Amino acid sequence: MKAVVLKNVEKSFNGTMACADISLSINRGEFFTFLGPSGCGKTTILRLIAGFIRPDKGKIFLKDKDITHLAPEKRKVGMVFQNYALFPFMSVSENIAYGLKIQKRPEKEIQEKLETYIAMVGMDGFEDRNIAELSGGEQQRVALARSLAIEPAVLLLDEPLSNLDARLRDRMRLEIKSLQKRLGITTIFVTHDQTEALTMSDRIAVFNKGRCIQTGTPEDIYANP
Ligand code: ADP
Ligand code: ADP
Repeated sequence: MKAVVLKNVEKSFNGTMACADISLSINRGEFFTFLGPSGCGKTTILRLIAGFIRPDKGKIFLKDKDITHLAPEKRKVGMVFQNYALFPFMSVSENIAYGLKIQKRPEKEIQEKLETYIAMVGMDGFEDRNIAELSGGEQQRVALARSLAIEPAVLLLDEPLSNLDARLRDRMRLEIKSLQKRLGITTIFVTHDQTEALTMSDRIAVFNKGRCIQTGTPEDIYANP
């Protein structure tokens, strides 16, 4: 069973083709990267998988189930946005609990999950801090914890490192990779940075102008750029 399958997916905005005839298959537990320059359609595909937008053509499957027309909250997908999209006037705990509250999980379970995921991203002691008081790296960890707390089948990471300074970017790259390995969670990572793609991924899909032009392991891509 594949974790995510896209079959001939197409999406235009006002006559501009954002992604054209995309077919991809992502394995369970895989760290899969979409690599390509700005504007080549990477984020559009993430938003299609998350269900925030619908394709004009084609189908999307999650664990063999056709989710093309399923509402976003019914897909088991967690997304971390480039700007983290945290609620700035809520605490760390309130941000992480948000998705669980929407899913109406029991309060006891919410408390347990909060403890687990705050510890997992190394934010113990920050539970009651406001988002506005956190550094970029700390906000990144809260955004990760918020996505992981709903225990998604697939984790979508949209340029999660691009707003961090170089030092923090190196650290978060290692942290994200080790967390992904430990959880074995299927992850789709979007970047325009070739080094990030080559060092973090099991497989890479290279995009250009809305098309997927190459798919392979980092070794394949490095050997045939
Ligand atoms: P990337 O993530 O690779 O930078 P995007 O998926 O964001 O690329 O964008 C692909 C193309 O689709 C771009 O030309 C972009 O301007 C366009 N696009 C994306 N979202 C919208 C939207 N909501 N409305 C209009 N055009 C959009
Ligand atoms: P990092 O090494 O993660 O980049 P920083 O040097 O940015 O950390 O921040 C160090 C500490 O200062 C962190 O614990 C952070 O929460 C705190 N901090 C950063 N910015 C602010 C702020 N505007 N108000 C209060 N605390 C802050």
